[in-house]
Amino acid sequence: MKQSQSQDRVLESANALEMSTASALLQDLADVEAPPALKAPVNDEALVHREFLDAEFWRRIPAFRRVAKAEFCDHRFQIRHSVQTIEQLQELIAPLVPRAFLEDVGAGLRQAPMNLRISPYLLSLIDWDNPYDDPIRIQFIPAASRRLADHPRLSFDSLNEQQDAPTPNLVHRYHDKALFLPLDVCPVYCRFCTRSYSIGPEAGHDKLAAFRASMKEWQPAFAYLASRPEIEDVVISGGDTYNLSASRLRLIGETLLGIPHIRRLRFASKGPAVMPMKILSDSAWTDTLLDLVDMGRQLGKEVALHTHFNSVNEITDITRAAMHKLFQGGMTVRNQSVLIRGVNDEADAMVRLVRQLSYMNVQPYYVYQHDMVKGVEELRTRVQTAVELERQVRGSTAGFNTPTFVTDVPGGGGKRDVHSYDYYDELTGVSVYRSPAVDPDKVYLYFDPIHLLPEAGRRRWAEPREHERIVQEAVEAAGLSALQPA
Ligand SMILES: *Cc1c(COP(=O)(O)O)cnc(C)c1O
Ligand code: SF4
Repeated sequence: MKQSQSQDRVLESANALEMSTASALLQDLADVEAPPALKAPVNDEALVHREFLDAEFWRRIPAFRRVAKAEFCDHRFQIRHSVQTIEQLQELIAPLVPRAFLEDVGAGLRQAPMNLRISPYLLSLIDWDNPYDDPIRIQFIPAASRRLADHPRLSFDSLNEQQDAPTPNLVHRYHDKALFLPLDVCPVYCRFCTRSYSIGPEAGHDKLAAFRASMKEWQPAFAYLASRPEIEDVVISGGDTYNLSASRLRLIGETLLGIPHIRRLRFASKGPAVMPMKILSDSAWTDTLLDLVDMGRQLGKEVALHTHFNSVNEITDITRAAMHKLFQGGMTVRNQSVLIRGVNDEADAMVRLVRQLSYMNVQPYYVYQHDMVKGVEELRTRVQTAVELERQVRGSTAGFNTPTFVTDVPGGGGKRDVHSYDYYDELTGVSVYRSPAVDPDKVYLYFDPIHLLPEAGRRRWAEPREHERIVQEAVEAAGLSALQPA
């Protein structure tokens, strides 16, 4: 079903640039015999990241069988048909899956701490012949039979963002950067989301009142940012920038660009991975975003988009076209993945993702060790897995397209290079970190999922009286007993 279009695109760009001299030279090359090879020729498998699904894949879902491309590729169709209840989901996929799977999902959703929301785009990309192993299903649709008990050390708001919030909607943890959270809705809801404590269903308001309300709500955050000269960098996250109307997007962008010491804005959005067509069909929104890029450039400031692809299954030719539009508009796009078991925890999958993103000029920036979040224990991996993946990925492509593997350590220590632990016990799965730039007096701990530990490690965790001792041993082995546990 995949089709390569790269050949056409090379010619297209050559034509677009009218490289007459160069193209003559390139023609001549066809007659030159290639020098002897130093490396074995590559096979097609090595170049799969250049292929983008270009078929009308949504027609596999009976309810979308008659949906034409223009309609499917309109963001309004995607929003209107986003699935938010088990009944809607069952109606769409009942013809494609066994009854037992539907029941499993029904039970999974009843237990899940997160709301359901998935776009028709993603739903159509799931392999319904094998939904249990599908990387998109795993991220958005829980199945009760796969559920595992939470780690005993898991806590509510594991990143401790509330503690670093000077005003509502703002987290100021690091010296020169801040996280602005203007809204609490997303185009989809990811099972693994750290912010599940704040992400919820949309409240129905009338538009003007809502606009005024949000300006008023955001004022303290803007006032704080303006009052802190050390802040140069603002991440606008959420919720999700996709869910900001063009007018709110402009308001936020212009306000922040107008604060002299703010030099860099990053709009965060899952959108390109879950509803890429919006970038092509919602011109008011995209033009606003690209206007902000221009405005920033005039002021000597960078406005970038940070997105969140986790697997190549989320990428199609629509994605390629959308990313191309942003690239042409001069926008830097970077990617932050979450490391998820069964989605991207094998080297082949991660390398292919990194290469395909790079091919679209989306820079792989971070891969996050999965946060300790309620109800998704089966999605986490061991720290050891992240370290091994990093070893395999580094060197497979350009250094500037090589993601840094990080753990956002529980307790508010912020992001730590995953292999920068002071100590890691593979048996008990405890890793011990310091974060001197955030708080030099604290020690931060991350815990591998128990079910993946060696037998002896699992036995120790089975005994609740042992838990405190397991933690103390790790901190002592790190030589950090003098510090305070976060
Ligand atoms: C991740 C994060 C940032 C941005 O950090 P970078 O490492 O620069 O991407 C800023 N503030 C908070 C609270 C964050 O969690
Ligand atoms: S889009 Fe981002 S903020 Fe929203 S649910 Fe997913 S991970 Fe969380």
